[in-house]
Amino acid sequence: MTISGKAQIAGVFGWPIGHSRSPLIHNFWLDQLGIDGAYVPLAVAPDDFEQAVRALPALGFRGANVTIPHKQAALRIVDHLDPLAREVGAVNTLVVEEDGTITGSNTDVFGFAENLQVGGAVPMGGTAVVLGAGGAARAICVALREIGLAKLTVVNRTLAHAETLANTFARDSFSMAACAWEDLEKPLSEADVIVNTTSLGMAGAPPLEIDLAPAKSSALVNDIVYTPLQTPLLKAARARGLTTVDGLGMLLHQARPGFAAWFGQAPEVTDELRALVLKDLGS
Ligand code: NAP
Repeated sequence: MTISGKAQIAGVFGWPIGHSRSPLIHNFWLDQLGIDGAYVPLAVAPDDFEQAVRALPALGFRGANVTIPHKQAALRIVDHLDPLAREVGAVNTLVVEEDGTITGSNTDVFGFAENLQVGGAVPMGGTAVVLGAGGAARAICVALREIGLAKLTVVNRTLAHAETLANTFARDSFSMAACAWEDLEKPLSEADVIVNTTSLGMAGAPPLEIDLAPAKSSALVNDIVYTPLQTPLLKAARARGLTTVDGLGMLLHQARPGFAAWFGQAPEVTDELRALVLKDLGS
């Protein structure tokens, strides 16, 4: 890796930030593409976040990613807000423009959609079930709508959270419904795409226990949890012969737009990058 006095710099804001794989991903691409640049972790406490973001142009940063707990705060700090980020209600990518202003966007929508398309064909006008109604689910509802699905049911422990998503993201050509866990069977039986966005199944969390028996044999099952990579949901889906897509691709693909904007080259998600991140995750 080359870091000269003219290096282009970007980073990732979080608090804490030590767990983030973004430095590994972006520095892999910088190295692979021979770019004179660096991507650094920026451990910034919530009280200091706005000041730190405002300092990016003066420090010569090309931009930064934003992770927990700053994604909502970034919404009101940026000078220009991408419409998708406004709709999702979270910013995860900052770009410093030529004039020193800062644009905020949300690349989770792109990352999820890219990962799903890589994994298997999603039928236009199809039907989806999203399990969970947290921050990630918001981006995923928008992504499924933008991909061209026609109907989405959100299933969540707290029904009111699912109802909020259904009320927020439905459109004339995209109907949405909220559903309690105990009523999952019918939407599951109609779904072309089934996505887990809850933290269930993650290492250290309780397992996600749903019966996939009602699912169509053509259903595509995606778990955005990627630690472990093969979650209990994906194992159960494979055992039934369903097509599965793991969650690591979402993490990798969401990094692409920021990198391209900051460093001027379009990076690719390769098997080598996947293997590097998997090794770091201990999988
Ligand atoms: P979040 O905002 O905290 O939402 C968590 C969701 O899980 C909520 O719907 C919550 O339901 C549900 N939940 C939590 N514990 C539960 C339990 N014991 N039983 C039933 N439901 C439960 O989290 P998030 O930011 O959306 O992230 C969710 C997961 O996605 C995390 O594992 C995260 O690592 C992963 N993720 C992956 C990517 C990727 O790139 N692959 C990106 C973002 C997030 P309530 O509404 O009832 O609380």
